[in-house]
Amino acid sequence: MAVSTRPQRGPAFASAAREPDVPIPNYIGGAWVASRATDSLPLVNPATAERLGRVPLSGAADVDAAVQAAKAAFPAWRATPPVVRARVLFRLKALLEQHFDELAAIVTQENGKTLDESRGSVRRGIENVEHACGLPTLMMGQALEDIAPGIDCEFWRQPMGVFAAITPYNFPAMVPLWFWPYAVACGNTFVLKPSEQVPLSQQRMVELVHEAGLPAGVLNLVHGGKDAVNAILTHPDIVGVSFVGSSAVAKHVYTTAAAHGKRVQALGGAKNHILVMPDADLDQATRVVTESIFGCAGQRCLAGSVVVATGKAYGPLKDRLVESAKGLKLGYGLDDGVTLGPVVSARHKARVLDYIEQGVQGGADLVMDGRGATVDAYPGGQFLGPTIFDGVTPQMTIGREEIFGPVATISRAADLDEALSLVHESSYANATSIFTSSGKTAREFRYRCGVSMIGVNIGVAAPMAFFPFGGTKGSFFGDLKAHGQDSVQFFTDKKVVISRWF
Ligand code: NAD
Repeated sequence: MAVSTRPQRGPAFASAAREPDVPIPNYIGGAWVASRATDSLPLVNPATAERLGRVPLSGAADVDAAVQAAKAAFPAWRATPPVVRARVLFRLKALLEQHFDELAAIVTQENGKTLDESRGSVRRGIENVEHACGLPTLMMGQALEDIAPGIDCEFWRQPMGVFAAITPYNFPAMVPLWFWPYAVACGNTFVLKPSEQVPLSQQRMVELVHEAGLPAGVLNLVHGGKDAVNAILTHPDIVGVSFVGSSAVAKHVYTTAAAHGKRVQALGGAKNHILVMPDADLDQATRVVTESIFGCAGQRCLAGSVVVATGKAYGPLKDRLVESAKGLKLGYGLDDGVTLGPVVSARHKARVLDYIEQGVQGGADLVMDGRGATVDAYPGGQFLGPTIFDGVTPQMTIGREEIFGPVATISRAADLDEALSLVHESSYANATSIFTSSGKTAREFRYRCGVSMIGVNIGVAAPMAFFPFGGTKGSFFGDLKAHGQDSVQFFTDKKVVISRWF
């Protein structure tokens, strides 16, 4: 008899199962402590409408308690040999593998992604832990003898103190792992504030961090919304802030934290173009582009939401895209065969519906309308079917702004020059892709395109942990990006020592 390997459907995680009506605790100084906040929000499974728990809206007092714990833990952690620090991450990596399906199921329950999408995101998160295990090598300094006779110069990378990260709802397990493992491996201590819409993945993950033996105070978790964020941005004992979220908030985080003397890396929103050239393999392109647009219900900063059909690709591509989108199966991400989950909340669904209405009013041609889609088994779910607009221009609201839902817009371009102008007209510059069978066209696109993450016959150009992750223009505020060597630079100061011995 076949045994199902699918995760259990109920909340499998201890933190949420304990007291569904009591706000989940913060993790401060190595212990789970109740937030001092009086306000909290309900947590709801966006597919089934089941209550998953409550999240407290912590404020300045909770943030300060976390910062003080992190500050107190810093001297001993900083003096812990890098190999010993890395060993805690090796143990965490093993625990994350052991609890892989459980974590993926939590992501699906709180965010709505399909289970395969959640698994992919947990895998990407773990890859950052793996990369951070190599920090003893990555954070080595450099030295040069005889910069003048008998004088040597060297630089050491040193941890700086307490860092913080503020993360979005769309990748609840993965995005926090873009930051804190690197910061902590470098010898810093940390305060993490996950999205108040999806705090449960981090709740479970921090339980595993505790089990892995990270000393008390090295990583602290504070749940909350903008009050907690503003307390972080202005706290005098935090030396640097990493942020991922919408561009408006990213800009606020960047300007406020910088004005308070902190290092900042703030990754913002996106509007990503996918150029399909007439010489592309249209069947392959359609398959990959459909996944890029509608995967994670379009709630991905790398989603290719603007399809630029170039030259003769237009007609056949449009027909194929509509056919391919019809093949998506809407439903609860823990159910078999589902390829399109709900959006995260009723509020977000209303926002996406508003964009669709603006598209219609703005004169775009609605060739596929997902507004009425329902899933019989889950009448309370925040479902939206795949939606496709044709004839979209950058002047239209839906051609300009980030929709962040299962909505594609098709624009036309005569050739590569015109397609690139469309890309460059956008205020965002996170990711873009080209589909072509010509190496020359691909090379020209890569060379001329002013966007940071580029795909060639790839729908979602997601850099792995050892490559830099982040955009430019309105998609990124700062200079050092997430992941890899940029992380090591962001989380350390370069101390230069020049020596002469008489
Ligand atoms: P969001 O900006 O609403 O929230 C992100 C974080 O900021 C959350 O922790 C939230 O509590 C906090 N926040 C929200 N409003 C705030 C305010 N007014 N003041 C202070 N803090 C505030 O973003 P979201 O809706 O959670 O996530 C989706 C957005 O994130 C999209 O724009 C998406 O493109 C972007 N994103 C970007 C990347 C990237 O790599 N560039 C990756 C993932 C998501």
